[in-house]
Amino acid sequence: MPPRNARLTIDTAALVANWRRFARAGGAAACGAAVKADGYGVGARASAQALVAAGCRDLFVAHWHEVEALTGIDARIAVLHGVGADEMATALASPAVPVLATPAQVAAWKPTGRPCDVMVDTGLNRLGLSPGEALSGLLDGLQLDTLHSHLACAEIAGHPRNELQRARFANLAARIPARRHALANSGGIGLGPGYHFALTRPGIGLYGGGLAPDGGGLAAVVALSARILQLRTVVAGDSIGYGATFTAPHDLRIAVVALGYADGYVRSLSNAGAAFAGDARCPAVGRVSMDMAAFDVSAAPALSEGDFLDIDFDLAATAAASGRSEYELLTGLGARYARVYK
Ligand SMILES: *Cc1c(COP(=O)(O)O)cnc(C)c1O
Repeated sequence: MPPRNARLTIDTAALVANWRRFARAGGAAACGAAVKADGYGVGARASAQALVAAGCRDLFVAHWHEVEALTGIDARIAVLHGVGADEMATALASPAVPVLATPAQVAAWKPTGRPCDVMVDTGLNRLGLSPGEALSGLLDGLQLDTLHSHLACAEIAGHPRNELQRARFANLAARIPARRHALANSGGIGLGPGYHFALTRPGIGLYGGGLAPDGGGLAAVVALSARILQLRTVVAGDSIGYGATFTAPHDLRIAVVALGYADGYVRSLSNAGAAFAGDARCPAVGRVSMDMAAFDVSAAPALSEGDFLDIDFDLAATAAASGRSEYELLTGLGARYARVYK
């Protein structure tokens, strides 16, 4: 296998520490983990293995094909998109359960007699039965394991929609018998015990994004580095990269690294991102291209061609600098990295 020139170093101990923080904050509720979108770009299988070893028993993916990466992992897997007509055979052959989301899905699943979860929409207006549909008798005869709903504004503490959705879901939970009820994503867990029910579904926080449920920051899980393909001197007045968006104010030492927007190093980090060489901050200069980006390493004279340069991928700072959400930054990381787990 040829070596990879861009590397994600994934700290599974930090992942587990973050999960434990959410589990503790959730009190008596079981704490699951969303590992959809290849574990938010971090790697679904390795993430799930670490979390299950720490005691996580519930994993959430969006698609049936995402179940495959979790083969052999000892946890309950729920598929959040439910099950479409052309997915019934896959679902029936799978150890995972669907989170049924429409009346048609419920009608198709009921005759199988197999266990399932159900999503009720309490105000996000995305996926799920309406409360009226859920209370209509539609669920009678279904082997309902967990009844879910999902918050629209969980990361905005004090948003009135949170209490509205909590109250609607508590009302449904009192009237719809299920083994468990579940409402909170990462942000929801921090909203307080009224949001915890029997099971929580954190995602982003496990991977280091957003805020900790008990305040403060979360442990960084992902570190990014990329190989220096070429070091060059750019003389004062010369420009760097497509569109000549950066002009050197004085002679600069530039590192051209093997990292571009095809790797999820988004174009809006052009002239906005940074790398680090030890303590020296090395600003991104010029436009990020598909496979390369340039950094001003004038402050790091010891670097050589072939070295790996550490890229600043602090999620909050990179989100602010790029205008992308932390979710987009993580899930956009792409397939070209060596993902190294430590
Ligand atoms: C993605 C997802 C989660 C996890 O949300 P985070 O904001 O990443 O914690 C939980 N529940 C559902 C239904 C989801 O789609």
